[in-house]
Amino acid sequence: MDTDVLVIGGGPVGLALATELALAGVDVGVLERLTERSGQSKALNLQPRTAEVFDLRGLFDRASSRAMSTVGDGHFSGIPLSYDGWQTRHPYQVGIPQARTEQVLEERLAELGTKIRRGHALLSFESTKDSIVATVRDGDGEYEIRARYLVGCDGGRSTVRKLLDVPFPGTDPTTYAIVADVVLSKTPAKLARQWQSIRDIFGEDPNLQAMTGAIPLGEPGLFRVLARHSSTEYVDRGTAVPAGLVTGFLKKIHGDEVEVAEVRWASQFSDTARQVERYRVGRVLLAGDAAHIHFPAGGQGLNLGVQDAMNLGWKLAAEINGWAPAGLLDTYHAERHPVGERVIGNTRAQTALISQEPTALAMRALFREIAEMPEVNRKLAGMISGLDIRYPFDGPSHPLLGVRMPDVELGVEGETRWASSLFHSGHGVLLSSAPDLLGLARPWSGRVDAVAVTGLPEAAAVLVRPDGYVCWVGTGEETGLDTALRTWFGHPAV
Ligand SMILES: Cc1cc2nc3c(=O)[nH]c(=O)nc-3n(C[C@H](O)[C@H](O)[C@H](O)COP(=O)(O)OP(=O)(O)OC[C@H]3O[C@@H](n4cnc5c(N)ncnc54)[C@H](O)[C@@H]3O)c2cc1C
Repeated sequence: MDTDVLVIGGGPVGLALATELALAGVDVGVLERLTERSGQSKALNLQPRTAEVFDLRGLFDRASSRAMSTVGDGHFSGIPLSYDGWQTRHPYQVGIPQARTEQVLEERLAELGTKIRRGHALLSFESTKDSIVATVRDGDGEYEIRARYLVGCDGGRSTVRKLLDVPFPGTDPTTYAIVADVVLSKTPAKLARQWQSIRDIFGEDPNLQAMTGAIPLGEPGLFRVLARHSSTEYVDRGTAVPAGLVTGFLKKIHGDEVEVAEVRWASQFSDTARQVERYRVGRVLLAGDAAHIHFPAGGQGLNLGVQDAMNLGWKLAAEINGWAPAGLLDTYHAERHPVGERVIGNTRAQTALISQEPTALAMRALFREIAEMPEVNRKLAGMISGLDIRYPFDGPSHPLLGVRMPDVELGVEGETRWASSLFHSGHGVLLSSAPDLLGLARPWSGRVDAVAVTGLPEAAAVLVRPDGYVCWVGTGEETGLDTALRTWFGHPAV
C-alpha cells in the first residue's frame, strides 16, 4: 500500500479532511490538479460553527488573524440575521477569503508532516476488495498509486464522482449570476468601505431589485461584485466572463460615480442544485462540493464541506487504525446527507425569494416581516450557520444529545479553560467531575480523553465525539456510558 487514504483535491474540504486524518496518525496523500492556488477566492466567510470547529483544533486564531473583517450578521436571501440567539463564542462571520482559509489548513497539514502534491491530477481508479489503485498524471507523465481508501474532495465537477457513476440528482439552473473581483479607480460614495454587515453588501434595497452587491475586500478600491443576470444561456463557470459585462453592471447601477481600473477575475455561477445519492461507495467517499452543489446563497458551501470533513475524518481514521465499530463509516452518509439536503433546500428557498415576480416580491415582503421575530431569526441563523445541527443519536432524550458541545468555560485542574481547548488532540472527550466515571473510559485511552472538569452545563457528564457532537449525556445515573463508548469508539483496547 502506498498510502492509507488518497484525498483528491486540495481545496478547503480536501485540506480539512487530510488534516483530520494526519492528526489521527493516518498516512494520507493529497493530490491537487493545479500547480498553484488560483487565488480566486470564492467563499469569503467562516460561519459560526466553522469558527467553533477551528477552535476545536486550535486553528481559530490563525484564521482570524488573516481575516479582512468581522461581519456581525448573516443573511437569508439578503435578509439580515443575527446570530445572537445562539450560545456561541463566535456570533458573527469571519470575513476571510477562501484562499487564506486554505493556507491555514495547508500550513497545519504540513506541521503534521503531510505535503499536498500539486500538479497531480487523478485520471481514473480501480477498486479491488481491499484497495484502490489510482492513475494519476503529473508533469512527468502517468503513475499509479495504491491506497486503502480514496476520498473525492475534487469539487463540483468531481472526477471521482463521475468515475463512480453514482446518481447526482437535483435541479437545473434557473438563475445566473456573475462574480468578479474589481479594482475601482472611482468608488461610489454609497459603497461601504468595510464589510461589517450584510447591509454593506446589498445596501438598503429591501427587494434586491438591482441584485448587484459589492463586498469591500480590505484593499483600497478592491471589491467583490456579485450580480444576477437574466441570460437564459448558461455560460460555463470555467468560461471567462468579459470584463465589459462586469463594468456594464456597475455602470448601470452607479453611472458616472464608478470607474473600473481592473477586473482581476470574473466568473459565472448558477443555482444548479444537486446532491449525490450516496456519500460512500465501498472504499470511495465523497465530501464537499463533490457531493453537493447549490447556489452560494447565505455563504454556506465551504462551511458545509468543512463540516463534512470533520464528520468523516475521525471515522475514516478509526477504520484505518483498526478500532472502528461496525457501521461507523456508514454513519458519515447517514448523518451528512440530510444536512446537505437541508442546505440545498434553504438555498432554493433563498433563490425563490430574490425573484422579481410580483408573487415572489409579496412573499419576500412577508418573509422580511416574520424574519424580525426573534424565534424565526434564531431558526434561520441556526440553519445558515450550522449551529442547529442535531444528529439523531440513540439514548434518552436530552437537550445536549446529538448537538454540538457548547464551548463553555470549564474548571480544569484549578484553571478555567474553554471546552474547545480539550479537543486539540482529535480524540473523543469524556467530561465529568466524578473520578469513578472518568475511570470507565480508561480502556479507550488514546481514542477518548477523560478529563475531570467542573462547571458542565445541563449535565453531570458528557461523552463528546472528536467532531464536537455530544453522543452521551450523564445526568446522575450513569447508565449507558459503556454502550456509548462501544458504539462510537469500538471494543475496549485492554
Ligand atoms: C461565486 C461563489 C461564491 C461563494 N461564496 C461562498 C461563501 O461566501 N461561503 C461559503 O461557505 N461558500 C461559498 N461558495 C462555495 C465554496 O466556494 C465551495 O463550496 C468550496 O470551494 C468547496 O470546497 P471543495 O474543497 O469541496 O471544492 P473546491 O474548492 O472546488 O476544491 C476542489 C479542488 O479539487 C481539485 N481537483 C479537481 N479535479 C481534480 C482531479 N481530477 N485531480 C486532482 N485535483 C482535482 C481542484 O483543482 C480544486 O482545487 C461560493 C461559491 C461560488 C461559486
